[in-house]
Amino acid sequence: MLEQGTISIHTENIFPIIKKSLYSDHEIFLRELVSNAVDAIQKLKMVSRAGEYTGDVGEPEIQIAIDKDQKTLSLSDNGIGMTAEEVKKYINQVAFSSAEEFIQKYQGKSDQPIIGHFGLGFYSSFMVAQKVEIDTLSYKQGATAVHWSCDGSPEFRLEDSPRTQRGTTITLTLQEEEQEYLEPARIKQLVKTYCDFMPVPIKLDDEVLNRQKAPWREPPNSLTKEDYLEFYRYLYPFQEEPLIWVHLNTDYPFILNGILYFPKLKPDVDVTQGQIKLFCNQVFVSDRCEEIIPKFLLPMRGVIDSTDIPLNVSRSALQMDRTVRRIADYISRKVGDRLKELYRDNKEEYIQAWQDIGTFVKFGALNDEKFKKQIEDIIIYRTTNEAKGSDTPSVEVQSQEGDVWQDVTPQESEATTLPYTTLKEYLERNKQRHENRVYYCTDQVTQATYVELHKNQGLEVLFMDSFIDTHFITFLEREYPDVKFSRVDSDLDETLLDQDKAAEIVDPKTNKTRSELIKELFQQALNKPKLNIRTEALKSDDPQGTPPAMVLLPEFMRRIQ
Ligand code: ADP
Ligand code: MG
Repeated sequence: MLEQGTISIHTENIFPIIKKSLYSDHEIFLRELVSNAVDAIQKLKMVSRAGEYTGDVGEPEIQIAIDKDQKTLSLSDNGIGMTAEEVKKYINQVAFSSAEEFIQKYQGKSDQPIIGHFGLGFYSSFMVAQKVEIDTLSYKQGATAVHWSCDGSPEFRLEDSPRTQRGTTITLTLQEEEQEYLEPARIKQLVKTYCDFMPVPIKLDDEVLNRQKAPWREPPNSLTKEDYLEFYRYLYPFQEEPLIWVHLNTDYPFILNGILYFPKLKPDVDVTQGQIKLFCNQVFVSDRCEEIIPKFLLPMRGVIDSTDIPLNVSRSALQMDRTVRRIADYISRKVGDRLKELYRDNKEEYIQAWQDIGTFVKFGALNDEKFKKQIEDIIIYRTTNEAKGSDTPSVEVQSQEGDVWQDVTPQESEATTLPYTTLKEYLERNKQRHENRVYYCTDQVTQATYVELHKNQGLEVLFMDSFIDTHFITFLEREYPDVKFSRVDSDLDETLLDQDKAAEIVDPKTNKTRSELIKELFQQALNKPKLNIRTEALKSDDPQGTPPAMVLLPEFMRRIQ
């Protein structure tokens, strides 16, 4: 037996579900109504450009009004309006949107995207309202104004309206428990959160509440450095300014716009929680982007706007989504490109920014194979090599009090000149002296003597002293199996040692060698009787004097330090 047909829906059963559970958050009703109003204004522009409307478009605006006595909140636009037929078609039929039809008909007539899509947004107003009214007049010639009302049951009323102005007013009579939306402060806050960058002024008592301009939708070459900085200040007030940003702007194979900034990394910044704001057609969606941004880029800040990120699916499904994965790849590639461009074109600025971006870059190299390949040649290290003509210039770094991320020793308060190098340059420069061997220091203060010793012997030392470097050194050892990485205080170069064993001094009182005495001293001081301490006699400038000794810490102390 075969039977085919259409599944029917009982409105009276489904309606309460739409009202209660359409969205988890009641407050987004305002976002939905404003989106519709913005679309209505945009649509009027489109029909006007198509020559189908020759009347005055006027100054686009959305007016919000609160009437505490009547317990109503209303939203008026001077957009396209609706005829009685359109109200029946698009409002009375749930989940029926005019967006697609409209876009097809007026393709190319729009500089702004139409936000609507699913034909559900309007009904979110029933989450907060016991009664919803529409008063509307279409732009179409000969159209008469209509008034639609619905008290939350599936029954509606449609009648003539005395309205004379083109556009639409939606009036919500709020439910008892939703009276908070009669407070101007609450409405302002909602507009600021969701509608700040929507391209039409939204007014409450004639005060414009939203910023309107969305810099991420501007062509990158039309924005100045100050524009980017101003936008950052706007998004994250009272924060230190970022040094680098990336403007994302693509239409294919997905639509993505955005501006991402590398912030100054501070110890109190929680880098596991994303701070990037997600938008869809300039409407704020969420400030949790963990599923879309590659993990290592989570500490970045800024905005991402894409219509291709499915907003109505679960977060775990989002991670599996192919487009979302491609967007993530695209973002990390763009970030890599931007860093390489800066390294190539403005090395000084790159070095200046390295204090903050270095951690991202290393974290990225550790976590993302593709990103690692892209940026491995622009990972730089501070070095003791001060030779003129070093491949990488040095830069003035201002030390700041209490700023533990600074690459400057705590004693130094003045600007310090710090040369930087890449690993490749280091290996090349030191090929003659120590091929495939890298000397590094993990703590500029406690290892200062060791660094000095190497420097005096003409050995170049790299500083790997940021908190991520412990992992990064292990990573480098894996990446460069031929290279030996020697920490300055645990693995001395042969040329530094006094090979003449006769130089070992014996203490006449205890009859112990200096090495033995030092070992005991350390074992006692650290309360580790089995600790294996090595002492080496070093070459001395004075052949007659006592050769200096160097204490070498065992390998595992590298991990506990
Ligand atoms: P969507 O916005 O996804 O299309 P909605 O449920 O929000 O769905 O709205 C349904 C339809 O109602 C819209 O497509 C539009 O045709 C019409 N509409 C809603 N609000 C307005 C308005 N302020 N002005 C003109 N038309 C509107
Ligand atoms: Mg809508």
